[in-house]
Amino acid sequence: METANKQKVVIIGGGVAGLTAGVYALMAGFDAEIYEKNAIPGGECIGWNRKGYHIDNCIHWLTGTRKDTEMYDVWKKTGALSDDTKYAEINAFFTSTYNGQTATLWNDLEKTEKELIAVSPEDEEEIKHFIESVEISKQCLFPAGKPMEMWGVKDYIEMGKNMADFPKVMKEFGKITIEEYSKRFKSVLLQKLMCDYIPASYTAYSFLVSYATMADGNGMIPLGASLQMSLRMERRFKELGGKIFYNTSIAKINIEKKKATGITLESGEFVGADYVIPTIDTHPLFEKLLPKSYMPKELVKAYKEEKNYPATSGFQVAYAVDAHFNENTGRGETIFVEIEPLKIGARTFGRMYVKAYGYDPIFVKDGKQVIQTCITQTDEDYYYWKSLTKEEYKNVKEQLVAEVSKRIEAAFPELQGDLEFLDAWTPLTYERYCHAYHGSYMSFITTPNGKQIRMKGKLKGIDNLYVAGQWTNSPGGLPVAAASGKFAIQRILKSQKRDINL
Ligand SMILES: Cc1cc2nc3c(=O)[nH]c(=O)nc-3n(C[C@H](O)[C@H](O)[C@H](O)COP(=O)(O)OP(=O)(O)OC[C@H]3O[C@@H](n4cnc5c(N)ncnc54)[C@H](O)[C@@H]3O)c2cc1C
Repeated sequence: METANKQKVVIIGGGVAGLTAGVYALMAGFDAEIYEKNAIPGGECIGWNRKGYHIDNCIHWLTGTRKDTEMYDVWKKTGALSDDTKYAEINAFFTSTYNGQTATLWNDLEKTEKELIAVSPEDEEEIKHFIESVEISKQCLFPAGKPMEMWGVKDYIEMGKNMADFPKVMKEFGKITIEEYSKRFKSVLLQKLMCDYIPASYTAYSFLVSYATMADGNGMIPLGASLQMSLRMERRFKELGGKIFYNTSIAKINIEKKKATGITLESGEFVGADYVIPTIDTHPLFEKLLPKSYMPKELVKAYKEEKNYPATSGFQVAYAVDAHFNENTGRGETIFVEIEPLKIGARTFGRMYVKAYGYDPIFVKDGKQVIQTCITQTDEDYYYWKSLTKEEYKNVKEQLVAEVSKRIEAAFPELQGDLEFLDAWTPLTYERYCHAYHGSYMSFITTPNGKQIRMKGKLKGIDNLYVAGQWTNSPGGLPVAAASGKFAIQRILKSQKRDINL
């Protein structure tokens, strides 16, 4: 459908950011082409099959499932969700266990409050404050209407009205880590509950907002798994006339007279463009596709100060087990347990989780369901994996799978002899598959000593290029990725003095 007078937007990367940029480019009347190095769309938002079972790689919660939010509008326009989408019937964020005791963060906050107080009556006051703060954090909705630099006074007033109480939460929880916050509870189980899910070095408010998103019905999991969501977005892009080129790696972005003029494929072929939108990880972007001198100062600082700007990945294992595992147990799908200490990467872990995927038929086959575990890995762990030879890497992975299996069987005796190993993967898997910096599948962790990255998309000294992708706004994630793709198109429209409302 190319016409002579239509301008062409070329997008690098076919993940959620790239697909969203593609759909919005077409909605705005541009021609759009996506270039993706892998054979399928989705980037980090995918899944794969092993022994006939489907393993999910991404969605633990999808922010923007509440229909009255700006984010839902983006998911709907890109085809990721529709009014007919069915969601998993999951009624808890997760469960933590310790010393024979159990505590669950239910979506029903009253239920959680009662359960936590029953577990630890001496923490009643702190528990009530926690629940109240989560309730307030429901006000924190992801702003996906337009980039913040385009906000006017009215937008700020509106936000102030909608989030009237949230500044209180930010003030109290914005400058302490989850670990520091957890110390306010006397019960060891509750301390563990606070630290189990989100890396304990994150600021405490991110944990509150994550739980609030689930509790508010705004972070559900669409049935059909992550890859299927990416495929729906790809379908919408193609239906609107977009072209997507797979197995096509980009070697560089061409700049002439301070203007992006197109891209050069690894094959050497040049593809001209009126606008270029890179959506790939910013590390390879400035290491390879663009001269490093264009890297914004805030990113230079973040890559330099690893301790204040950690990146997060995982050592993950998937198994098939009896489909009845975790049925009618009165706990959530994700259960954290105490384990015999295990060194994974550079650090030793005393806890891990098992997530049962039986909530969606796509993960169930022949009376068995998939279960998975993910042990958080960060920069120092990445360096460990990276230091191994190919042979050592293979052996370490195998040994760790055996050790993880032992610990799962110890924590869940009903699974003894029932674990059918499906797959294991590490930070290096994400580095290989997505060129992810330190294997990180989110952007930098939001810590009290690190500033949130907020790139405006434009790079000093280059016109017609708008950076998108989850790394433009830490801590990343699917809503950041999708919104960044939409924002890139709105920034182009604004530069052309056109209406940005799409
Ligand atoms: C285990 C796991 C769990 C997660 N859970 C959640 C969750 O519950 N909720 C949530 O919101 N987010 C979650 N995420 C994060 C989410 O998947 C990412 O934030 C999001 O998918 C990032 O999208 P993106 O388009 O910005 O980047 P990517 O998905 O990395 O897409 C970039 C694309 O660019 C391609 N590319 C790279 N270099 C080149 C090149 N030179 N040429 C051509 N193409 C190139 C890559 O192959 C990739 O497809 C999770 C991720 C993982 C892995």
